[in-house]
Amino acid sequence: MKVRKITPSVFEIPLGVVNAFLINQNELTLIDTGSRQTGSRQTGSGGSTHQLIQAIEQIGRVPGDIRHILITHCHADHAGGLADIQRACEATTYMHAADASMVREGKALRPLTPAPGLLNKALFRAFIAKSPAQITPVKIDHEVSDGELLEIAGGIQAIHVPGHCAGQLVFYWPQEGGVLFAADTASNIGWLQPSIAYENYEEGLRSLRKLTVHPFEVACFGHGKAIRKNAVSRFRQKWLR
Ligand SMILES: [Zn+2]
Ligand SMILES: [Zn+2]
Repeated sequence: MKVRKITPSVFEIPLGVVNAFLINQNELTLIDTGSRQTGSRQTGSGGSTHQLIQAIEQIGRVPGDIRHILITHCHADHAGGLADIQRACEATTYMHAADASMVREGKALRPLTPAPGLLNKALFRAFIAKSPAQITPVKIDHEVSDGELLEIAGGIQAIHVPGHCAGQLVFYWPQEGGVLFAADTASNIGWLQPSIAYENYEEGLRSLRKLTVHPFEVACFGHGKAIRKNAVSRFRQKWLR
C-alpha cells in the first residue's frame, strides 16, 4: 500500500477498491475509513484499519494526531472501518443526519440499482450486489447539514449530494487550488463517469450539476484516480451539457 500525495497537504490512501484521504496540517483530518473486513479481497490482508495506520505513519504522523473524521456516506467501504479507527484516536466524527442514523444502528445500505448501461449492470452484479448491509455500530458526534462550513483545516464546506446515497456528503476544501472530496458522486476508473449504483440516478445527476459551481482544481474520488488539474471543467463538460 502506497500513500499518494495529491497536493502538498492532501494524501490519498488506497484501501483495496476504495480510497480514504488525509489532510495533513497541524491537526490531521481523515476522510472516510475503508471497510473493516480483515483479509478480504477488498482490503487485502490486515484490513483497512491496519492499512490506515500504516499510511498515517508513512507521512510521519500517529493515529492519535487525527482530530476530525469526516464520513461521506454510510456504505461499508467508507464507514465500515470507523469503529476500529475511532478506538485508535480521539477524533470528532461528522456525517449527514440521514446516514448518521444508519451508522449508529450498524446499517450500511439502502436498496441500490445499477446506473444505465450494460457494463454498469455487470459491475453491479460483481461488486455492489454483495456489499455488506451491516457494519459495527458507531457514534457520530456531529450531524452536518448542506452548505455547512466546518471549522476544520482552515474551513471545509460540506455539500449534500443525494442520489447514490441519501445521506451522502462531499467536502470542498478551498485551499491548495481547491480540492473536492467527491466521494461516490462519480468515479474515475479509466474515465470520469457516474457511479455504478444509485438509490436515485436522476437525483445523482442533479447532485453532480450542483457541484460545478465550486472552483475546484483537484477532485478526489472514493473509487478511481484523483484528477489533479482543471477538475471542475471536466465535471462541467460532462454534466452541464
Ligand atoms: Zn457508496
Ligand atoms: Zn464506495
